[in-house]
Amino acid sequence: MLVVMKRGASRREIRDVEQEIKDLGYKSHPIIGVERTVIGAIGDERGKTRLQSLELSAGVERVIPILKPYKLAGVELHKEKSRIAIGAGRKVVFGGRKIPVIAGPCCVEGLDQILTIAKAVKKAGAVALRGGAYKPRTSPYSFQGLEGEGLELLSRAREATGLPVVTEVMKETVLDLVVDHADMIQIGARNMQNFDLLKAVGQIRKPVMLKRGLANTIREWLMSAEYIMSQGNMQVVLCERGIRTFETQTRNTLDLNAIAVLKRETHLPVVVDPSHGTGYSEYVEDMALAAVAAGADGLMVEVHHDPHEAWSDGSQSLTPEQFARMIKRVRKVARAVGRDV
Ligand code: PEP
Ligand code: MN
Repeated sequence: MLVVMKRGASRREIRDVEQEIKDLGYKSHPIIGVERTVIGAIGDERGKTRLQSLELSAGVERVIPILKPYKLAGVELHKEKSRIAIGAGRKVVFGGRKIPVIAGPCCVEGLDQILTIAKAVKKAGAVALRGGAYKPRTSPYSFQGLEGEGLELLSRAREATGLPVVTEVMKETVLDLVVDHADMIQIGARNMQNFDLLKAVGQIRKPVMLKRGLANTIREWLMSAEYIMSQGNMQVVLCERGIRTFETQTRNTLDLNAIAVLKRETHLPVVVDPSHGTGYSEYVEDMALAAVAAGADGLMVEVHHDPHEAWSDGSQSLTPEQFARMIKRVRKVARAVGRDV
């Protein structure tokens, strides 16, 4: 519910209404405007009629329902775009004029591999390093990730390059460990609706990158962001990574519509992953350019110094040279649309 205060309502009236909202068992989210204040009441929707009675309180003009089910992720309560900063010094920001590029291998394979790739992507202009230590693989016989050792190697790569680290967590039991090593926690497509995991990352205070599920609607995706935010963690970045369609020429269909829709539906930044979105290295650059032209707030790209030998997703991984070329062209498009890389 939205409690719209009268023009000129006093501070005391606003405070009292906030207290009433809390007494009714809701969280209060005040938005102080120049002309008037609006207070969001977030919580169990069964108590709607009790909230409606706030219309009788001093200073209240009216009480209206929030129309979207994603109250915290939506724009009704939060008009300005969120900026989510990661890493020491919080210099890498999603949602600002600059478009951060996250790059690295699909999975961490060893110290030499991760250091080689981290240094190469940094040189080309990446500002964060990706790499999976826990891998969600379709086959149980495929490499499942170096797990704890992989996390240690990512930390070593961060020390060597200064790049903040983005890595996936698949289960709550290792969340604390992943938090110790990561600057941003990735929730992969396959876990987008693992609601217990979403609640768990909602309790931490580190930025989360929530990838879109393989066959999930934008609304479901925003409800998953809402799960995280409802637990208190507002630092959520969305990542479009392609969805399942009837098309077989590509691994997934990168849904660039989502960028345009999300720009109007949410204040959360949107990163695009053209690697999983296409599945083939030859299509990655074109889709990266298109994503930036459409308004993406970040890119995440898989890079490997020897894609043929990569332990996973080699076919969609760019070489460092291809990545450097991509960045140069992405920078031109970014400038054309008033952004920078
Ligand atoms: C990944 O980023 O390595 C990954 C597994 O992506 P997704 O969850 O989008 O398939
Ligand atoms: Mn991958």
